[in-house]
Amino acid sequence: MNIDVSDIVENPGASKELHVSKALSFEGLDTVGPVQVDLRLVSAGKGELSVTGKVQAKVNLTCSRCAGEYVQPLEVDIEERFVPQSSLPSQDQAEEDVDFEDLCVFGYENSELDTGAMVRENLLASLPYRPLCRPDCRGVCPQCGQNLNEGACKCGEAEPEVDPRWSALKNFSQG
Ligand SMILES: [Zn+2]
Ligand SMILES: [Zn+2]
Repeated sequence: MNIDVSDIVENPGASKELHVSKALSFEGLDTVGPVQVDLRLVSAGKGELSVTGKVQAKVNLTCSRCAGEYVQPLEVDIEERFVPQSSLPSQDQAEEDVDFEDLCVFGYENSELDTGAMVRENLLASLPYRPLCRPDCRGVCPQCGQNLNEGACKCGEAEPEVDPRWSALKNFSQG
């Protein structure tokens, strides 16, 4: 997803748009179906470009509760900056004292913006911390391992419905 920006980069305020909807693969992401990328690039002068827009994708994730695979829709608002690679601090400088803000920009070379790494970073950052196949996922039974979304297991049947200590309290409060 390279965009040639040679026609706008010398012209502050000039802009161009990128609209892509196709199967894209990103390292570390198991995408399903097409990824929709809608970006607007605006030249900010001195080689700097601001990139805003939206990325929509679906990825395969593993539920943190039941360990089942499911498809998670992702929708990310993009707000990034690109500067010429030559104006980015080198690795050595970055380890010393460069403003944090300067590290949060992407570099580009030869008037060509490669948006792939930027889109990937944004998608990775939008992944849920604890993926759930559905909000009310019932998980698996800790005793027999049965996926409780697919039906109840027999482990719970022997247990009394209410913990006896609580029922004693209940009787107490009822006088
Ligand atoms: Zn689940
Ligand atoms: Zn069970």
